[in-house]
Amino acid sequence: MKFDLSTQQIDFKNRRALVTGAGKGIGREIAVMLRRFNAQVVAVSRTQSDLKALQEEIDCETIVADLGDTAEARQMAEQAGEVDLLVNNAAIAILEPFLETKVDSWDTTMAINLRAAFIVSQAVAKRMIERGVAGSIVNVSSMSSFQALPDHAAYAASKAGLDQLSKVMAVELGRFGIRVNSINPTVVMTEMGKRAWSDPVKGGPMLARIPLGRFAECEDIASVVCFVLSDAAAMLNGLALRVDGGFWAT
Ligand code: NDP
Repeated sequence: MKFDLSTQQIDFKNRRALVTGAGKGIGREIAVMLRRFNAQVVAVSRTQSDLKALQEEIDCETIVADLGDTAEARQMAEQAGEVDLLVNNAAIAILEPFLETKVDSWDTTMAINLRAAFIVSQAVAKRMIERGVAGSIVNVSSMSSFQALPDHAAYAASKAGLDQLSKVMAVELGRFGIRVNSINPTVVMTEMGKRAWSDPVKGGPMLARIPLGRFAECEDIASVVCFVLSDAAAMLNGLALRVDGGFWAT
């Protein structure tokens, strides 16, 4: 992973990058961009056909796994091999008012959005340490970690947990040269984003508070992830980086 100041090109040549939730949306774009920057990509998701479509677009390895299942998450991390760059991106959003949030929804959300990131990161970090690799881990969190949104109790709690997990990992893994950061996107109109925000009654006021006047695109998030993974961000560690078009400043 070199950052060549003369060309300002991120180069992940000979670096193996594991991306979870790479079948759709933001994770897919992260996988595509990492490959464009020469990483060897291992793409993980639940739906085989999504991974097949990705493989038709980029040269990558794929693993089908349901990361909400502890055994499958562990098995996937094992199968992924010697990972240098890890992006924990897979997540779900079950939107329910707090008073109607089901225990099942809560547990499933925590299992996928938070526990899987813990399980996969632990396995990957152990191997980085054994191999003496100064790797980099990015956890894809959300602005809902900062911002209390109605109907987002389980999702927001999982993302706030993910931010704090990232920080503790950053503190403990820093001495091995492993950096851990989370990034916190605003709305992106992926399948998940559309479910939550396509109704103008909900989406309109959110959009109105974004000084740049638009929601984010998958590319906006993927480029920040690539930057944070790269040596160009060598002193970024333990950060929860808002990618929100200025929302938080308003
Ligand atoms: P999508 O729903 O569009 O895509 C999510 C991807 O993750 C899919 O490929 C999905 O596979 C996969 N995935 C979900 N659950 C599992 C699982 N249990 N095991 C393996 N893979 C799984 O979401 P986005 O692209 O919008 O979101 C990506 C990340 O960005 C998430 O962490 C999300 O919380 C975060 N984010 C999104 C925002 C938005 O507005 N879209 C805003 C802020 C943060 P499948 O479809 O097969 O289940």
